Amino acid sequence: MAYHSALCDILVDEAQLEQFALVAKDSAFRHGLLMRTKEDPNSPEVLSYAPFTLFPSPIPKSIYEQAKLLQRDFNLLVEKITQDSKFLEQALASIIKVDHFIARLFEIYRKTLQKGISSPITIGLIRSDYMFLCGEEGVTSLKQIEFNTISVGGGGLASQVPAVHRHILKVAGIHNVNIMDNNCIAILAGAIEKAWSLYGSQGSIIMFLVEDIQMNIYDQRLIENELWSRNIPVIRRRFEDISKRGHLDEEKRLFIDGQEVGLVYYRYGYLPQQYIEKDWEALLMMEQSRAVKCPNIGAHLAGIKKVQQELARPGVLEHFFPGDPEAVSRIRSVFAGLYSLDLGNEGDQALDMAFADPDQFVLKPQREGGGNNIYGDDICHVLSKVEQSLERTAFILMEKIRPQPVRNCILRRGTLLKIQPCINELGMFGVYVRHGTEMTLNEFAGHLLRTKNSEHNDGGLMAGVAALDSPYLV
Ligand code: ADP
Ligand code: MG
Ligand code: MG
Repeated sequence: MAYHSALCDILVDEAQLEQFALVAKDSAFRHGLLMRTKEDPNSPEVLSYAPFTLFPSPIPKSIYEQAKLLQRDFNLLVEKITQDSKFLEQALASIIKVDHFIARLFEIYRKTLQKGISSPITIGLIRSDYMFLCGEEGVTSLKQIEFNTISVGGGGLASQVPAVHRHILKVAGIHNVNIMDNNCIAILAGAIEKAWSLYGSQGSIIMFLVEDIQMNIYDQRLIENELWSRNIPVIRRRFEDISKRGHLDEEKRLFIDGQEVGLVYYRYGYLPQQYIEKDWEALLMMEQSRAVKCPNIGAHLAGIKKVQQELARPGVLEHFFPGDPEAVSRIRSVFAGLYSLDLGNEGDQALDMAFADPDQFVLKPQREGGGNNIYGDDICHVLSKVEQSLERTAFILMEKIRPQPVRNCILRRGTLLKIQPCINELGMFGVYVRHGTEMTLNEFAGHLLRTKNSEHNDGGLMAGVAALDSPYLV
């Protein structure tokens, strides 16, 4: 490590490692760092700990501070994109010709615009993810991997990690490491509470839109229980429930099972395989309702990777932040190389770059949740098939970030215990609420540090690759 030695290097023998791992796993149970199992994803009778690292990871203070400071900029940017239908239409024009899923989302967006936006309240619970590079003499640079605007997970569990790591360090006799507090649950729930109270109907409830298979339910429950503790009722429903039993009244209020829904919080609905035909009608009904949507369809579209690539074009950030060149340069400084593969010269050049040196790039389709990107020689295989056709516009090409590995030990159910080279990805949560033309909330909302074995190209907690981690600043 250029800037700090890894904590696991102070451990000498394997017996000690085993012992710390046991202590750590029990601590994870005690602090609610939990996940249901793959075999029995809907049973609270069989649980495991959520994957996490044995030790916290060193993060340069300047990197953390920069990412934290940027969060309000990104909140604003997402909010501005959400309101800019002309930009969204242009940015997604090529994708919707080839990506059926994005086309359908866009159709819902268009229909919603036609009928007139039904709620003056918008809320964002977003997360901007970064890796960082360490150069000579401690010079570091922060690079954004992506930002997420729908079903942004991890905030619940991430709030529980500091307690687990603090305990491990104590048992290991390491006293000079300060694990940062992480208050995501309260801040995320606070934003939901704010938007719900602006909706202004005391008797209304909050509805989490969830999936059938609920392996990661505890991450959601932490936020759900926080809302209940503030005396705000929360129900959990699936698309199917809404299609069967949901309706709008004549004032476009959304009802399900006799209850008025003040806010819909999507923890599902971000991938094509999560929809059957009827679900699209349910989505349209919710979008056209007066309920606050977290996110609304515009904010969902703002998080699509193609949009992120379009933002990197010259002049686009200036369009969103006229008269604020500082914000523009703060944001632009964390963009990695992002390239369109649209038909034409620009796309051809990107294609040539990818063929010439695929290891320098990541090929990204418009999908979420980890495990969808394409790397190395596979980039050439995929691109050679679509090179001459419109199909290539379904992807964006991104410069690959190659952070320096740090040694750590990932604890994951059913895997061997070993110290391995790891890569960190720092996610920063942000919350905003807009009421009419007024931004009533715009805040940084805590972090999610995810760490994976450096051999893995792709990440994702639920994809079975990344593990929860805590930063300590160096
Ligand atoms: P998703 O929406 O599926 O999370 P991401 O763009 O975050 O998509 O990519 C998934 C994972 O792939 C990331 O968590 C990261 O580990 C890896 N990854 C993505 N983009 C890059 C990149 N430009 N450089 C290095 N790794 C990347
Ligand atoms: Mg994503
Ligand atoms: Mg991601």
